[in-house]
Amino acid sequence: MADDGAEKPTVETSTPEAAFGLLSHEIRFGILRALHDADGVQSFSALRDAVGVDDPGQFNYHLGELVGRFVRSTESGYRLAAAGQRVVGAVLSGGVTMELDAEPVATDAPCPACGAAMTARFRSEGIAIECPACELQYTDPDVPPGLVDAVATDEVADVVERWGQRNRASAGYGLCHNCDGPITTEVVLPGDARAPDWLDGDDLETTVVYECDRCGESWHAIVPLAALSHPAVMGFHHDHGIDLRTTPTWNLPWLAVDGGTVTDRDPLRVTVTMTLDDETATFTFDRDLSVVSEQRDPSET
Ligand SMILES: [Zn+2]
Ligand SMILES: [Zn+2]
Repeated sequence: MADDGAEKPTVETSTPEAAFGLLSHEIRFGILRALHDADGVQSFSALRDAVGVDDPGQFNYHLGELVGRFVRSTESGYRLAAAGQRVVGAVLSGGVTMELDAEPVATDAPCPACGAAMTARFRSEGIAIECPACELQYTDPDVPPGLVDAVATDEVADVVERWGQRNRASAGYGLCHNCDGPITTEVVLPGDARAPDWLDGDDLETTVVYECDRCGESWHAIVPLAALSHPAVMGFHHDHGIDLRTTPTWNLPWLAVDGGTVTDRDPLRVTVTMTLDDETATFTFDRDLSVVSEQRDPSET
């Protein structure tokens, strides 16, 4: 839609500076929060009570500044507009106002390389799941801090992993988890335009790079992990009673951190072999992470 010369369906009705400027008063964010908590249309007086402002004139002024963009005025009262809901969501996620600050915690997630229990280490902006025994860094994403606010300590690794899985699945739909822009997914070899520098000389032959064309958000995953959001791979696991949406990846018996095997470079072909119960499946992926072939055999054990 962006490049076909047709008129865009979007209209910029405000600059970011003006939109965020409207929120720069504690009463105004209080109004958004109260409308969110109220879950429905609120009268002027009920809303003023909820926010706790005595002066109706002052309250009316601040409410008026929000009406149009962040709040909708209806015959029966006020409700949160879609833009207001997004602002409240960003705050509730902790992504704007919180930082992480905690001592590392032990998890019961086994290291895929050596089997030792991995540790969750908190950075101000993210959480690393890593192995204290063999120093494998399993994942280290920047996450909105609120992600772990609502979970028990022993679920931290799980929720970080599901957050990553959600983003890889979202990329499979072609949508960025950060800005909803178009995502490009590419399996890369060292030296490719999108390949990260560290891939040159790394033990991995290949990796998957995700890149948003709009916000520039970019991250990577080994092919076996990225493959988990492909319908063919989900189907194989489903056939063996495993729901990949709720199963932590480190509990998959076949998963090793080998990144898949490059069987052809032009065109690129990468195979990943997975054994579940009495069946072994070999999936071959192309540069787009599409499955070009799938073979299932009885396992040899
Ligand atoms: Zn380890
Ligand atoms: Zn984006």
